[in-house]
Amino acid sequence: MPDIQTEQSFDKKSLPGHAKVVIIGGGVVGCSILFHLAKFGWKDVVLLERDELTSGSSWHAAGQIHTISSDPNISRLQSYTIDLYKEIEELSGHSVGLHITGGFYAASTPEWYDYLKRERSKARYMGLSQEFISPKELAERHPLIDPKHYHAALWDDQDGDLDPSGATYAFAKAARVHGAQYFTHTPVVETNQRPDGSWDVVTAKGSINAEMIVNCGGLWGREVGHMAGLHLPVQPMEHHYLITEEIPEIATRDTRLPAGIDYEANIYFRQERTGMLLGTYEPKSTPWMVDGVPWEFGHELLQPDLDRIAARLEMSFERIPAIGRTGIKDIINGPFTFGPDGNPLIGPVPGVKNYWVAVGVMAGFCQGGGVGLTMAEWMIDGEPSIDVWAMDVARFGDWASPDWGTVKSSENYERRFVMTFPNETLPKGRMQKTTALYDRLVARGAVMDQSFGLENAQWFAEGPDNAHEVPTFERNRSHDYVAREINAVRTSVGGIEIANFAKHEFKGDGARAYLDKTLAGFVPKPGRLTLTPMLTPKGRLYGDLTVACLAKDHFVLFGSGAMQEAHRRWFEKELPDNVTYTNVSDDWHGIALSGPKSLDLLARICRDDISGGTFRFRDVRQAYVGGVPVILNRISFSGELGYEIYCRPQYLLRLSEAVETAGADLSYRWYGARALMSMRLEKSWGAWTLDYRPDFTAAESGMDVFINWKKDFVGKDAALAERQKGPARKLVTLVIDVDGIDVSGDEAILKDGAAVGYVSSGGYAHRVKKSVAMGYVITSTSNPGTKLQVEILGKMYSAEVQGAPLYDANGANMRD
Ligand SMILES: Cc1cc2nc3c(=O)[nH]c(=O)nc-3n(C[C@H](O)[C@H](O)[C@H](O)COP(=O)(O)OP(=O)(O)OC[C@H]3O[C@@H](n4cnc5c(N)ncnc54)[C@H](O)[C@@H]3O)c2cc1C
Repeated sequence: MPDIQTEQSFDKKSLPGHAKVVIIGGGVVGCSILFHLAKFGWKDVVLLERDELTSGSSWHAAGQIHTISSDPNISRLQSYTIDLYKEIEELSGHSVGLHITGGFYAASTPEWYDYLKRERSKARYMGLSQEFISPKELAERHPLIDPKHYHAALWDDQDGDLDPSGATYAFAKAARVHGAQYFTHTPVVETNQRPDGSWDVVTAKGSINAEMIVNCGGLWGREVGHMAGLHLPVQPMEHHYLITEEIPEIATRDTRLPAGIDYEANIYFRQERTGMLLGTYEPKSTPWMVDGVPWEFGHELLQPDLDRIAARLEMSFERIPAIGRTGIKDIINGPFTFGPDGNPLIGPVPGVKNYWVAVGVMAGFCQGGGVGLTMAEWMIDGEPSIDVWAMDVARFGDWASPDWGTVKSSENYERRFVMTFPNETLPKGRMQKTTALYDRLVARGAVMDQSFGLENAQWFAEGPDNAHEVPTFERNRSHDYVAREINAVRTSVGGIEIANFAKHEFKGDGARAYLDKTLAGFVPKPGRLTLTPMLTPKGRLYGDLTVACLAKDHFVLFGSGAMQEAHRRWFEKELPDNVTYTNVSDDWHGIALSGPKSLDLLARICRDDISGGTFRFRDVRQAYVGGVPVILNRISFSGELGYEIYCRPQYLLRLSEAVETAGADLSYRWYGARALMSMRLEKSWGAWTLDYRPDFTAAESGMDVFINWKKDFVGKDAALAERQKGPARKLVTLVIDVDGIDVSGDEAILKDGAAVGYVSSGGYAHRVKKSVAMGYVITSTSNPGTKLQVEILGKMYSAEVQGAPLYDANGANMRD
């Protein structure tokens, strides 16, 4: 790394030799984390800043603040962030220049109106203050807008703007009031881990030994990561906004104009003094310093290039004609860092003890407070108070390489204000990870998506020429194809690739005892499988796992593929010496067979006798299938008789040939994730990241039926307390009376017009031919037969709580 320390003038006071936490980077994110840690009682925390505070992106931000985000929990944290500004201003005595003007999201097409109706529905159950206003009301609140372009606008009382530098300093000074310290002109040049897991943070002023370090390097997040051997998949991007000369209509107003976003025109805007500020995300992004940001880069801006945003400017002149009539005073082109899906990467890094990150925060003034809150809760309490999966650094694995990060971060920048439909798959950074079946399934008509970097089939069209999706909020093109796949599974036998399930291997004398403590459910005997929840100490769900006991000291756990790095982090945290643990997800690929004829097919290619009760429901064994060694599970997520066959990746093609050949006269058909997700709805089985996640407890989700109350396990005290008191809300299955449209998630559930919960997942259930949703509702509205409403695209549909699974309620199909 370049010799940056000699070029800096340092603070006079000396660094402490030790700190509980050292935060690297004094942008808004680092300062917010410093503030929250100190506020919650950790005073021995130190922030080190290379230059002055705000010396990355923070000083030149546009300062617009709003609550809307694609993830409801991020919206909640954005709302928290905005509410926090008054507190830090009062505590620090430093102005944040806050203007809560209210703001709007203007819909200029029916699709954007539908999108905003979905946002409005989310806001209902989150308790956010959002309401639709007509184009006429919009023009009354923002007289510079030409209302003829709009169908409606969603109004949010909480939106506005602030002074970005002021806000960052207010966080830092408020942190000092709470007892924390920060040092400017103190660049960190090395981070070295000691054998005890603590970190030496090296600067020219000396080193601090820290129990934990937090990388808040912002524009230099990647470079700070390199000091610890980390390659974070984030990328700084160039971004323009401009400030106009005085606009007479604004100069003569005595109230400030509200902030606004026009998605189709791809512009955001607000009042700036007596003119306007207008920014845009251009369709062809410009990643900045792909190979690394120079340490010398300081309070500098980049060369503006108006050609890049010319088309967007023209649109803005139509929508806000006064801007077109006014001269431009300033053009800002500044870099800020994006993550691959546009959300921050925060939390403890899996596999690197005591190393935390909060990088890729692309809307630091909307999200910085929430990121600080979450990080402080996580560090101090061991878990955040709400599920922050959408921001968790563990949602990316080593497949998320720097190159992939640049490609996806650029895509995300370009799509910042571009709608993504629920059935849409994004095109960039694809085929990062594939299995041996990829070409074969594509040749069979598979429409692919990726999950945790790995391509997997969503559904199967007639063939490759016909394999495409049409983005929509309504019932989509795959509907009839999925029906055909499900029919094959229901009447005969179908197969789905299962490489994307996570597999975790535990070996050793202490494995059973460790799992007994870590998992809330029963740990099986050799040769058997169990399903178990895994809870946090606070009793919240952290996993639903299938446990296979291969031998008394050898277990494999199957779970959510997306959660595999988060689970690895969880398992490695307190692993005893007599247990070895490995995430073996990439070492076991496979195929699951489902349907009444799955036994017939399997018996033809399995060397063992598995007929007539010799291989019972929830049995597991190591066997040979299709001539290759496998782990064979008798279990099913489709609700039909079923088997999971896991083989080493090099045998997958061979296995698939054996399955296809043996299944030819049984009408064997491949099926995809959409068919599986539809079938599990009819069984009222939740899916991880949707219905099961750390926002919910075992009792709320119904996973408490799998708890072994007779043993001691992580989260037992909290689960017992809830058992006595009863859960405040419950996961229910609803049948909805629809007209050709289904839920896609996050819709409000209402009773007599008041929000009582929200949809966690749903869709069309083909075997029972009903539109189904799963969702959490307050307990008093969870009884079978309760009549509720579900809001889909702004329309209320009646729905009824179900008392039993809709399909094969007693599970006879899966058993012998
Ligand atoms: C043109 C533009 C407009 C924007 N508009 C908005 C907006 O309207 N609303 C909004 O919410 N967001 C906006 N943003 C985004 C916002 O600026 C960022 O999200 C935010 O500043 C990120 O803060 P940060 O703390 O993560 O990173 P940074 O601000 O980049 O801070 C990182 C800090 O770490 C320090 N550092 C790095 N390496 C070291 C080291 N080795 N040792 C010590 N210190 C180190 C740096 O000097 C820097 O001060 C905008 C950004 C741009 C560029």
